[in-house]
Amino acid sequence: MDTNALIKTERELDDLRESGRRLAAVMEELLGAARPGVSTGELGDLADESIRRQGGIPVFKGYGAEWGKPFPAAACVSLNDEVVHGIPSPKRILREGDLLKIDIGMRFQGMVSDMARTKEIGTVSDEAHRLVIATREALDRGIGKIRSGARLSDFARAVERRVREDGFSVVRDLVGHGVGRELHEDPQIPNYVDSRVPEFSFRKGMTVALEPMINVGGYALRMAPDGWTYVTRDGSLSAHFEDTIIVTERGTEIVTRT
Ligand code: MG
Repeated sequence: MDTNALIKTERELDDLRESGRRLAAVMEELLGAARPGVSTGELGDLADESIRRQGGIPVFKGYGAEWGKPFPAAACVSLNDEVVHGIPSPKRILREGDLLKIDIGMRFQGMVSDMARTKEIGTVSDEAHRLVIATREALDRGIGKIRSGARLSDFARAVERRVREDGFSVVRDLVGHGVGRELHEDPQIPNYVDSRVPEFSFRKGMTVALEPMINVGGYALRMAPDGWTYVTRDGSLSAHFEDTIIVTERGTEIVTRT
């Protein structure tokens, strides 16, 4: 892997900061609108409208067109055992106790930011609540290991250790990724340690989207009949947090948090 190609210019980093700042504002709006009685379709429409209002282009919409399967919405909205890539629908109504995952991405002045949050709709089960906490803390612990010179496995081990404290499992079929000039860039960033995964060192100026997906049960997934939505194979709950970050000399800068 040519890591030189992954280093962004100062100008690009500035644009990414602004892209992330605006995307975080969109997420705030979506999370605020998510309550019992609202459909996932309404959240998808609001994401589209809000991203454009911020001056951005929703990069999820139409994603996959080159292989004949364009994603139809500006946001992925997934519930409960759905892990990621849920298609918003006017027929899916949020209910008390649901675990909602919203994933959005946008291009602003050429730079793409990507983020996801999990929200508890009303009061959820203790287990669901523990899952949300574990997933958020796993991401934070992983981010805490990253600086120029830190290795991929330093990040992944920290994520995995936090998840194991609660006996949950780290999804293996889907991983984080480089981001910035495009939605998906090198390198791939798994949230688990595996000797078959190519090791690399983070470098100052790299920009990556880190996104642990954590299941209460086993890590295995299956694809839903819609051809997009990943669900847990055992039907257990799943949570997802994602942030776009800039690697710095001594740590990170999280551009999708306000
Ligand atoms: Mg992503």
